[in-house]
Amino acid sequence: MKKNLPRINLHIHSNFSDGKNSIRQIVDRALKMNLDFIAITDHFTDSWKEWVSKLKDEDKISEYLAEITLCQNYLRDKGKKLTVFKGLEVDLSSSEQFIKKIKPYKFDLILFEYLQGIETIAFVKNIFNFWRGTSRNMGKFPILGLAHFDPSYFIYENLDILVSFLKEYNIYFEFNPSYPNFYARKNQIFFDKLRETNIPVAIGCDSHSITSLNNIEEPLEVIRYYNLEDNLQILIRALKNNFNLDFGNNSQGKT
Ligand SMILES: [Zn+2]
Repeated sequence: MKKNLPRINLHIHSNFSDGKNSIRQIVDRALKMNLDFIAITDHFTDSWKEWVSKLKDEDKISEYLAEITLCQNYLRDKGKKLTVFKGLEVDLSSSEQFIKKIKPYKFDLILFEYLQGIETIAFVKNIFNFWRGTSRNMGKFPILGLAHFDPSYFIYENLDILVSFLKEYNIYFEFNPSYPNFYARKNQIFFDKLRETNIPVAIGCDSHSITSLNNIEEPLEVIRYYNLEDNLQILIRALKNNFNLDFGNNSQGKT
């Protein structure tokens, strides 16, 4: 029997970077599409593709976060079942100083793109440790995830290093329908490891327009195929805990 899995899309771009729509338009459409959880995750980059994002300075980031807060308040006041998270997609080909400017406790979720080798793990660990230091007294740390991560960079060597890194920082793997080749069975050993070690998984569509907000059926199928439903539930529980969402009165609790 198929379990009822939550309808989530934790990877969406608005017009604060290279998405077509405003945050409010995204939230309105997500409501119509009956999604349970979405995250706005605009690009944060000073690499060669820095032109994709407007999020360069503290003021613009505050404006971005304020717009998401408005939507969060609207959804709560209206008693909607949709939850929207404050996210960011950090380009790991950016400079270290630039990434370190992020105040992680202001976000619910931070994605990283372009983790493609073990030297990048060292780079990311350094940033996490710096962030942990700066967030120590803020009482909050975002959920971390890998955007459109290709396991084949690691399956032939260094798989154990990767898995223990994901485990140590509780980093989730994103099923992204824009990159279906990453779910190939040549990567099965990676998915087996995720299941064995209870590493969380999520769905993120990399939506750049409201028309692709609910491309979640294929990722849900793949999650079932690799028996990773419990790993998705681990992520949902972490999001709810971080966001102080009430467990008691809705149907998304454990089934
Ligand atoms: Zn993206």
